[in-house]
Amino acid sequence: MKFFENYYDFLSTHHNNGDIVGINGVITRIDNIEQHAIEVTFECKECGKKLTELQESEKLKKPFCDCGNKTSFEIKNVVTEVTQRIILEWGNSLYRSIHVDVIIPEKFISKKDIVKEENLVHIEGKINIEFARNTRKINPTIIAEKLELVILDDDVIDYDTDEGKTINNKMRIICKLVKEMQGEREDKSVLIEDVKVCAEEQGIEDAEEIIKKLKREGELFEPRHAYIRRV
Ligand SMILES: [Zn+2]
Repeated sequence: MKFFENYYDFLSTHHNNGDIVGINGVITRIDNIEQHAIEVTFECKECGKKLTELQESEKLKKPFCDCGNKTSFEIKNVVTEVTQRIILEWGNSLYRSIHVDVIIPEKFISKKDIVKEENLVHIEGKINIEFARNTRKINPTIIAEKLELVILDDDVIDYDTDEGKTINNKMRIICKLVKEMQGEREDKSVLIEDVKVCAEEQGIEDAEEIIKKLKREGELFEPRHAYIRRV
């Protein structure tokens, strides 16, 4: 299983449809629960032979019998599957997010505390991506095998607010600073104190807090005490 922070991370790595991926996303829509036939067993009305046919779409797929009968069958057994489609917003604060269709199996449907709009969830499952030529839209679908609620720490930033935008801007400036500063060094790490001084020159008073946030978001890390570098 590979975890992808956002769709752009996903695109920048090699993958195939059907790969198992992990994503986090916010539930934006919950559709109705649906029951589909996945396997139907028929009995040939001509010779009595029993034939089982896997069902892949809404249209009933009938078998061809060895005796030549293609039309006259009696349905003997139907195996069904219950699923629910939900829509997730996949992305994070720094990238544009996209919508992902997620098909969840019956065992998760009853978990109302998890399957609730606006919940941030972690999903693992098989991914399929289709590109719709007519609408030029990307349609990713994940068949979920794992579904859990993501618990965030208290320090969540809403980047849509003015304060959030300011923090986001400061984060960008500091990342850029670190990148420039570490370019001159062999071990690519920079003294946090030096970054703070440079940040202050650019009007950022709370550089220490911003650096902490960047560390939590995985943009910067501390290879040794009092030093940071870009990931
Ligand atoms: Zn037959």
